[in-house]
Amino acid sequence: MLNTRWIMTKSQQSSLFNVLKSVSVWKRGGQRAPHKPLLLLMAIAAVQRGEPRLRRYDDIEGELKLLLSDFGPKRKVGHPEYPFWRLRSDGAFWDIPESDQAIAESPNFSKSGNIPAGALRKVNARGGFSQSVFELIGAKSEFASKIISEILAEHFPTSVHDDLLDAVGMMWQPLVMARRPRTLQFREDLIRLYEHRCAVCGFDGRLGLNDLALEAAHIHWHSHGGPDDPENGILLCALHHKALDRGAIGLTEARTIIVSQDLHGGAQVHNTMTRFCGEPLRAPQNPALVPAIKFIGWHRSQVFRDPPRVEF
Ligand SMILES: [Zn+2]
Repeated sequence: MLNTRWIMTKSQQSSLFNVLKSVSVWKRGGQRAPHKPLLLLMAIAAVQRGEPRLRRYDDIEGELKLLLSDFGPKRKVGHPEYPFWRLRSDGAFWDIPESDQAIAESPNFSKSGNIPAGALRKVNARGGFSQSVFELIGAKSEFASKIISEILAEHFPTSVHDDLLDAVGMMWQPLVMARRPRTLQFREDLIRLYEHRCAVCGFDGRLGLNDLALEAAHIHWHSHGGPDDPENGILLCALHHKALDRGAIGLTEARTIIVSQDLHGGAQVHNTMTRFCGEPLRAPQNPALVPAIKFIGWHRSQVFRDPPRVEF
């Protein structure tokens, strides 16, 4: 029989949604700050897979480090202990039963408010959703779906969503909510400017009368304040759009193509990616609308996986 202690009213659910949403939308200026959102996605996926409510910090740390390295800005692994600890202060939805012992092991806690990873390990700290949230996420797939959608839309471009859901082992496909009207003008501008061709490889396939797999890519992500201006866009094939958004490729201020040293693979990777190292990006037909340096700079500091390969 269902334990009625934990049933939440509609208004409690909506206030919880707002708390989780406010955690998820936290950003530092235009900089990416995906630590808490990635931990939340990890934790929701674990509930869906039927894992216990509380997981040891030790078990979470490795997985979160990998996610931060693959989906965070640059290769800063950061401090996985910070989001693990700080989610506690964002509302009553995150539980660390061993928090008092961890504080007792952290002499600088009163000054910094941080708990070192060593202290979390020493007291075998466990973290997870509070019981009521755990049950709500486990039972209410549409509630979890809304939270997941919110986190994805706020922090990652659409081309990255499936990769990220795979990486955290999410079992349910969230219904990603439309956050804004599609700006057809942005796409139309880029298609005209780049003459129906990928600006990296020149792909210009058509199926019948329509372009096949050509996409309007934002350089400075729209989710992080990048505008729908042609100077913030490039027309790319689906492969190079994904590569740009995952940081496998990027641009220099001189608008030449760079490729991350982290990208590797066989002959096809050479043919489709690494052979473009140092090549100029295809110029738009109106030279006044080339990608602007400020947007290229944002992508380089927040998305591209440094260091770039040396040209060959
Ligand atoms: Zn391409």
